[in-house]
Amino acid sequence: MIYADHAATTAISPIAREAMKTWLEDQYGNPSTLYRFAHEPRKAIDHAREIIANAIGALPEEIYFTSGGTESDNWAIKGVAFRNIEKKCRIITSNIEHHAVLNVCQFLEKIGHSVEYLPVNEKGLVNPIQLKSIMTDSVDLVSIMLANNEIGSIQPIRDLAAIAHETGCLMHTDAVQAVGHIPIDVNELGVDLLSASAHKFNGPKGVGFLYIRKGVKLEPLIHGGAQEKHMRAGTENVAGIIGMAIALEEHIKNLEYEMEYLNGLRSIMITALKETNLNYIINGSDVRIPGSLSISFKGIEGERILHRLDLMGTAIATGSACDSFTAVLSHVIRAIEVPDEYAYGTIRITLGMDNTPEQAKMIIDQINKIIK
Ligand code: PLP
Repeated sequence: MIYADHAATTAISPIAREAMKTWLEDQYGNPSTLYRFAHEPRKAIDHAREIIANAIGALPEEIYFTSGGTESDNWAIKGVAFRNIEKKCRIITSNIEHHAVLNVCQFLEKIGHSVEYLPVNEKGLVNPIQLKSIMTDSVDLVSIMLANNEIGSIQPIRDLAAIAHETGCLMHTDAVQAVGHIPIDVNELGVDLLSASAHKFNGPKGVGFLYIRKGVKLEPLIHGGAQEKHMRAGTENVAGIIGMAIALEEHIKNLEYEMEYLNGLRSIMITALKETNLNYIINGSDVRIPGSLSISFKGIEGERILHRLDLMGTAIATGSACDSFTAVLSHVIRAIEVPDEYAYGTIRITLGMDNTPEQAKMIIDQINKIIK
């Protein structure tokens, strides 16, 4: 099998899996209890918090563990909207966000908050000037993703954050596709809130984190016990948190090499594509997530390519992974205005460190064969 859908999820790293074992088998104490059996899990969580904070240039006390990207996005946005229950809040986002942001915004609109959706250009980029033109001091939150899950484009977050801050507004970024894949420093980016998910960087599923800049006031999303300084209730997913930290640490150590390797695999695919005489468009911006390639082929449905590739043993995606049960054109492909005759033929190949140059070439050969 060739697994080429790393934007959907990744295999757990053997080091992370090994590191999780102790916390599942022997050291299963509840970190919130007071006896000595809980000390080790508590210490391990604190250590994981430090590793994660270091990986993104944050302070350990600015990292809050969650159940993944969806919860982090929900918390960042609803947490701002619910800060003052009397007040209706104003949010600006983009029309290519993941549904973990878009559907939260739509829910908030239903209960009286207001949301504006910025368009993107043909590369999938938000224009900072356009953001500036609609910013007023009544905007509470700007939420723009760092890297897009379908086309890999990386947004000018630093510029967008600077504009948001001019009027005292908070800046959130969904960095689920970026953490562990490109260098990230929350201070350089200037964001106040940042969402991440472990299973996108070879950590376990069902665990993630939200970075909350010190001093930023947020309403908790999950109420209950006193965990995470009363901000996120529920017994901690100790093994998951450790696995996430170890997986992220591994990526950060090798980041430069990994980026170069994955950019190399992408170049192999582009060269192989050029050698075919297929009619296609490559989507996204030049500043992108390494190893990610969105292609729209003329006159063929992406889903047909996906199923044929599946029979050949290769796993790729059409549009967004989370949308793969519905045949509707993805909101991202629509937003970047891919012409109709190409748009329905869109596929997403996202390679990871477990892919080889031979596999990169083979995927394009397989696609060429299928379309021909
Ligand atoms: N945000 C983006 C950009 C994503 O790609 C995803 C997952 O595909 C999510 C959020 C949701 O993350 P999770 O699967 O951890 O809930």
